[in-house]
Amino acid sequence: MSGGAAVAPPDVKLTLVENSPPRVGTVRFPYRGWLIDLDGTVYLGERLLPGAREAVAALRAAGRRVAFLSNKPLQTRADYADKLTRLGVPASADEVVNSSLVLARHLRDLDPGAPVFVIGEPPMIAEMRAHGFEVRDDARVRWVAIAFDRTFSYAKLDTALQAVKRGARLIATNPDRTCPVEGGEIPDCAGMIAAVEAVTDRRVEAIVGKPSPIILEVALRVLGVPAADTVIVGDRLETDIAMGRRSGLRTILVLSGVTRGGDPRIAEAAPDHVLGSIAEIIG
Ligand SMILES: [Mg+2]
Repeated sequence: MSGGAAVAPPDVKLTLVENSPPRVGTVRFPYRGWLIDLDGTVYLGERLLPGAREAVAALRAAGRRVAFLSNKPLQTRADYADKLTRLGVPASADEVVNSSLVLARHLRDLDPGAPVFVIGEPPMIAEMRAHGFEVRDDARVRWVAIAFDRTFSYAKLDTALQAVKRGARLIATNPDRTCPVEGGEIPDCAGMIAAVEAVTDRRVEAIVGKPSPIILEVALRVLGVPAADTVIVGDRLETDIAMGRRSGLRTILVLSGVTRGGDPRIAEAAPDHVLGSIAEIIG
């Protein structure tokens, strides 16, 4: 990573008239690092958003550093890279930062090789093992790592309780209450966190996914670009934009996901730029 001269921020604020069609390929930005949210920004479920492929290709052609961010610990980084590649945005696993990677890297800094009980699915467990942790299925651990787990059970809750009674500490991947799926939503990691906190009477020490600055620290390291030269692109004000602003990144809100153009909270969140979609970016 080189120090490099900071890129001067553009002094023009972009605004978008609600419901105007996206202006494809119209905006060029000077930022060297690009952290790009996935769902609602690059794709919606299994559908690539129009122009996303061209925008990412243009950024890369302009020599920008690009990494993709997701709070979901359900798949491996390789799975996300495969999905992006399949949908038309070629990506490698080391360009993807998700909350299981962030938890593993963060905990490796705090307590490398520790014995850990994981409330999570196989890709989460594999990530912990790949980072050198001793993943155990009993309570003889120093940490209980809590993730979005569709196989959460009374037995896991009991193991977490017994582990905490023996002195184990709590850490979690992501704070999301629900996860949007085709046709609705399903319980996400907040449910597992609440259950463990309720029975142990302890609070998790960190929730590493968005909007925590911890995910940005890991992502900036992956990117190799300082915060001041980096922009985050996302569709959620309370995570992508709030987190980016708190950590000194530039922020681009896209209106292709959960945030609507007329939302009064946009002015309050004050993203640096508002675009109809990622399709407007040309590098
Ligand atoms: Mg999103």
